[in-house]
Amino acid sequence: MFARAMASPHHPILAQIIPIRRCNLSCTYCNEYDRHSAPVPAEEMLRRIDKLGALGTSIITFSGGEPTLHPDLDLLIQRVRERGAIATLITNGYFLVPERIKRLNRAGLDYLQISIDNVQPDDVSKKSLKVLDRKLEWLAQYAEFDVTINSVLGSAIAQPEDAYTIAARARELGFNSTVGILHDGEGQLAALNRRQRSAYDRILGLGTGLFSFAHLDAFQQNTIRGLPNPWHCPAGGRFLYICEEGLVHYCSQQRGTPGIPLAQYTPDDLRREGAKTKGCAPFCTISCVHQTAMLDEFRTRPRETLSGIVARRKQRDPEWQTPSSIKLLEAMFLRDSRMRDFFGAIALRLFGIRQGAKR
Ligand code: SF4
Ligand code: SF4
Repeated sequence: MFARAMASPHHPILAQIIPIRRCNLSCTYCNEYDRHSAPVPAEEMLRRIDKLGALGTSIITFSGGEPTLHPDLDLLIQRVRERGAIATLITNGYFLVPERIKRLNRAGLDYLQISIDNVQPDDVSKKSLKVLDRKLEWLAQYAEFDVTINSVLGSAIAQPEDAYTIAARARELGFNSTVGILHDGEGQLAALNRRQRSAYDRILGLGTGLFSFAHLDAFQQNTIRGLPNPWHCPAGGRFLYICEEGLVHYCSQQRGTPGIPLAQYTPDDLRREGAKTKGCAPFCTISCVHQTAMLDEFRTRPRETLSGIVARRKQRDPEWQTPSSIKLLEAMFLRDSRMRDFFGAIALRLFGIRQGAKR
């Protein structure tokens, strides 16, 4: 993902695409689903995936609604892989059984994320550890793709301590875990209270790899304190949200802008919309767009970004020593421009990426 992000400053790094708006659940905080929509026809979805491929998109994520309700999801995942992109899926997990997981393996899925909101179902959400734990065990047993369990904190969640229980269970099963901050109906921030922040700190204390976004994410540190983030939101350029009608939007919470059909979206649109200042940026909680922006930051300020990650890791654990892999990365990409060009060219070739691609 990193190498692909470095290949060009203009192509989309991540596109979220909606194959179906319908969902089998009805979480009360959610504004991204309905109870009735039909799946987008497979032929139309394939055209949209091909178009994202032609724009040079690195990662294509199926989201919803509940994307596993789409009858041709496996075919769509295969097409993403055929177009050379990374295929990822965000699901509520309700339809995962061993046979379905094996089909996702065969389709070539790279990565799956389940968001779990609480331990016991309540009026707000049925995305509950009690209901989904058996599914998680099946994933641990059968999945050949990476799995991340996302727990959430925010005003809609009654028991913030549940987020820690969920993250600990994810680690126990060998999965990645992340914690998200629930946004309001416009993707904006509601600061966390002391109990919620304490749960957040305990989850970070479980420890994650250096490059996990939990450590990389200086954004989230501001978010949980209700502070603004000084960043440029690259939505419309480096990040795209494609609704079920095939229109490009900035993100799930800013639907309607720019609202251009994907079929007509051009490299000029990517450049223009990605460069626009978004008034909603300072208090935005849409973490996948933050992550996209961080990859861009790595591209433009590699030395400072890597130093910041290492410093934050050391702050959390003063005994921590910089691993030799990071020292090697620094030597290969950061210290000397000739070495950086040499190793950069090798990395891009290994990843099958055209160097200097301008789309
Ligand atoms: S499962 Fe996901 S898409 Fe469905 S209602 Fe809940 S949050 Fe929304
Ligand atoms: S800042 Fe960007 S990602 Fe966040 S709500 Fe606004 S358009 Fe969406």
